[in-house]
Amino acid sequence: MLRKLIRNKLQNYKIALNKPDPSLPLNLKATKRVAVIGGGIAGISAACNLSERGFEVHLFEKEHFLGGKVGSWQFESNGETLRTEHGFHGFFRQYLNLRNFLKKIGSYKHLIPIDDYTILFDKNKKQGFKGLDNTPLLNVLGLRKFGIVNWKTFLNPLGIPFINLLRFDFKSTFKNFDAESFASFASRTRMNDKMRLVFNSFSRAFFAEPEDMSMAELIKSFHFYFLSNEDGLLYDVLDSDFQNSFIGYCEKFLKKNKAKINYSTPVTSLQKTGNYFVVNGESFDYCVLCTDVKHTKRLIAHATGFEAYSSTLHKLTSLKQSGRYAVLRLWTDRFEADPTLPFFIFTDRLKCLDSVTLYHKMEKESATWSKEHNGGIFELHSYSVPKDLITDQEVKEHLLSELYHYFPELQGMKFVHQYFQHRDDFPGFHTNQYANRPEVATDVPGFYLAGDWVKMNNCSMLMEAAYTSGAIAANYILEREGLQQNALESVPLKGILA
Ligand SMILES: Cc1cc2nc3c(=O)[nH]c(=O)nc-3n(C[C@H](O)[C@H](O)[C@H](O)COP(=O)(O)OP(=O)(O)OC[C@H]3O[C@@H](n4cnc5c(N)ncnc54)[C@H](O)[C@@H]3O)c2cc1C
Repeated sequence: MLRKLIRNKLQNYKIALNKPDPSLPLNLKATKRVAVIGGGIAGISAACNLSERGFEVHLFEKEHFLGGKVGSWQFESNGETLRTEHGFHGFFRQYLNLRNFLKKIGSYKHLIPIDDYTILFDKNKKQGFKGLDNTPLLNVLGLRKFGIVNWKTFLNPLGIPFINLLRFDFKSTFKNFDAESFASFASRTRMNDKMRLVFNSFSRAFFAEPEDMSMAELIKSFHFYFLSNEDGLLYDVLDSDFQNSFIGYCEKFLKKNKAKINYSTPVTSLQKTGNYFVVNGESFDYCVLCTDVKHTKRLIAHATGFEAYSSTLHKLTSLKQSGRYAVLRLWTDRFEADPTLPFFIFTDRLKCLDSVTLYHKMEKESATWSKEHNGGIFELHSYSVPKDLITDQEVKEHLLSELYHYFPELQGMKFVHQYFQHRDDFPGFHTNQYANRPEVATDVPGFYLAGDWVKMNNCSMLMEAAYTSGAIAANYILEREGLQQNALESVPLKGILA
């Protein structure tokens, strides 16, 4: 009965974001050229959604592969040819639009579930969430059995702000909490250590330090991932390398729809002239900018013809990146001792290490390498490299010493290969960013934005935000051409107590 009430209040856990008009035509008759700049999930989304309707899509990507942060590439090491990626990715069950897309292109079959959402802390303690009730509200109460909430949480008068987690609403949540950091919220509400551990792992998934992370973004993420649906904290991963299980399917779809993919083609010049956009010297009717925050700022700083659109220019040039993050993948001669660990584990960071992925347990190609070489493949992430660790060497050393803290049995292992990335191209979900965050539609006619950093009035985040924003950009263009939009979905937009 209670479950039914909750489900009803939360609109059956799913809402339609738009209502496509079935009387409108699907396909374009005229020739319209669209430049999609950036071949990450957002760009792939815009390019697929437009090319299948007959638009002449030109996708520009600066790298020699598509996918952006879910791209995969080859490298040579010690006489072997290997592949690597930007890092482990979880495909949550709430990623409604992205998952529909995976079904459409045929890659959904590669998703496999993770066994548990696990956090390691205090050297050899672990926090899992197996068996947690999936119904919103009941899942919060269920956290009692893991020691994360207790009667004090509900009776502590300082803890009253917690109720705002269940009251998510775009307007009031961002008005009241975008200026407050997670660190300040945690100390103001005297958050207990276990709860802090859980929130910390959530906040780090947005590549922000607790003192920078906007509490409003964190409330939105709790709503999206935990409090608005019955999908729970568990998620799926792709069973093989991203190129083989995801990006290859996108390329096939784009080629089938005659989209032109320009690999290794950074866009270095963008001009608005009259009603057209000139991208690297070629003229287009529409432009969808899907670059990451770092490169968006660079490109826009040199763009011409946008001077009359000061609002868009100001929003784009004041975008903020996260700090640095690091990903170290190691091919080794050892395995972890605990066979019960899932393939992805959050670690309560001592200074630097946020997560460890056991690739030999998860991905087909890694499992084959592991079998052939009798070794493990580990990936270490620092989602936010501390400010005092500057050089690659310092970051690597810290990552490794923390790995040995949690996995002492790996001490002394030999590295057969390693691949290290130390980057700063993630969007900042920091305090006071929301008001000025640009939206998909801009005040420049025919010019749209897509990416995980774009403001939308739906709750999607990260990969789902990238996909959904690209599809919304495509929908604006379909609408302008008098065509039927593509249907998009979302979890409900308000919390259960809002
Ligand atoms: C280590 C790591 C782990 C993550 N884990 C998860 C996870 O578990 N779950 C999840 O949902 N999300 C996760 N994410 C986030 C997720 O990867 C991103 O939110 C998503 O992929 C962003 O897609 P995008 O298209 O917006 O941007 P990007 O992937 O950044 O794509 C932007 C593209 O633009 C291209 N580009 C830039 N400048 C130019 C130019 N001038 N000309 C042409 N091309 C250009 C870039 O090369 C890139 O391909 C993770 C990210 C990282 C880095």
